[in-house]
Amino acid sequence: MELTDEQRLIRDTVRALAQKQFAPVAARADKEYRPPVENLKVLAEHGYTGIFLPERYGGAGLGLLETVLVVEQLARSCANTAMLFSCTDGATPRAILQIGSEEIKRRYLPAFAKAELYAAWSMSEANAGSDVGNVQTRAVRQGDHYVLNGSKLWCSAAQVADVFLVLVRLSDEPGMKGVGAVLVERGAAGFSVGRHLDLLGLRGTGMAELVFQDCRVPAESLLLPSGRMKDLLQVLDADRITGNPPICLGLAQAALAQAVQHLKDRIQFGRPLADNQGLQWKLADMAMDIEAARALVYGAAVGLDQGRHSVAQVSIAKTYANEMAVRVTNQAMQLAGAYGLSEEYPFERYFRDARGMSIGYGTTEIHRNSIAREILKGNYLT
Ligand SMILES: Cc1cc2nc3c(=O)[nH]c(=O)nc-3n(C[C@H](O)[C@H](O)[C@H](O)COP(=O)(O)OP(=O)(O)OC[C@H]3O[C@@H](n4cnc5c(N)ncnc54)[C@H](O)[C@@H]3O)c2cc1C
Repeated sequence: MELTDEQRLIRDTVRALAQKQFAPVAARADKEYRPPVENLKVLAEHGYTGIFLPERYGGAGLGLLETVLVVEQLARSCANTAMLFSCTDGATPRAILQIGSEEIKRRYLPAFAKAELYAAWSMSEANAGSDVGNVQTRAVRQGDHYVLNGSKLWCSAAQVADVFLVLVRLSDEPGMKGVGAVLVERGAAGFSVGRHLDLLGLRGTGMAELVFQDCRVPAESLLLPSGRMKDLLQVLDADRITGNPPICLGLAQAALAQAVQHLKDRIQFGRPLADNQGLQWKLADMAMDIEAARALVYGAAVGLDQGRHSVAQVSIAKTYANEMAVRVTNQAMQLAGAYGLSEEYPFERYFRDARGMSIGYGTTEIHRNSIAREILKGNYLT
């Protein structure tokens, strides 16, 4: 896809900034399980936070494709930074922008744009993963407050976030019908960020559980009443393209670049590994896979930007990018031999970081369900 001059400038500037400032500390963030939140401040100084927010809320008013370009370049240097960015510049501000009251918008959006506040979103629970409609954390109206009870799992950026978009059960209506969303601020009475959750990869995203014990939030914190989940799901369609898939593109591109360097540098049997045609073909396969995923992800972002919304297109792009990143980062490890598995080299971190992408933001199986549903409904041409 032909990018505009402005899009190329954004891509190249963020790539250079991330390579210079974020790449050198990426391995440490992973090893120490420490969210590199200071990188978000650097991005804010350069005007790269809140980029999709309208100018009246302090943003740059750019589209989804520009956000994809930024996240991809961040992930190429530091996937943890890309993930933190796509949490605080993702679902929560997007939902506030599209369904929040003017008062809520003014309260939070300019602060997100300046990286003065960070956001996270929280749907998952012990018994509500793919089955989001089974959310059991309750919010009950009491006078001019809502009282929340329950707990949430796998909340990325939880350890650094100031504002949480929390999916809650507001009524006894079954499934999604009874579910809505509330904004909860760090420090709210009865709210605590629980233990750090250590996953295989993306160890510097401050993932944690959230605990609500008679947590009281003002009634105005209700972002989405029950019965309107469709509105939130539309927001998430945009976020599904700007968050997770470009992280896969960036990780795969980084793994390919590192593999190329390794094959050129490493001498075996008296010549560089890169001289072996069998290994060259692996590089070619990796490049083809990345290009195919990039075309799908950019295409879906442009489609959403232009209002040509297709559920199947988003799910196809996300699923392909997820599986591509696992294939490419795995192949890069293979090409590097034992060095590929050593923590002294970035190959194994790329693979670990890529692996969770097939689970976060809807598993590849759940997205295949959506694609198949659209095909069978006749909404997606075969
Ligand atoms: C890196 C990462 C970041 C995350 N960040 C967040 C976050 O910020 N906020 C948040 O709320 N959550 C987050 N999550 C949680 C994520 O949304 C859930 O893990 C995901 O929705 C899957 O739920 P689960 O893990 O409970 O798996 P389950 O739903 O239990 O699924 C287990 C397996 O069964 C399959 N399966 C389930 N139902 C079906 C079906 N109907 N048809 C076919 N297959 C099915 C799944 O595809 C999967 O393979 C994150 C997860 C990861 C890995």
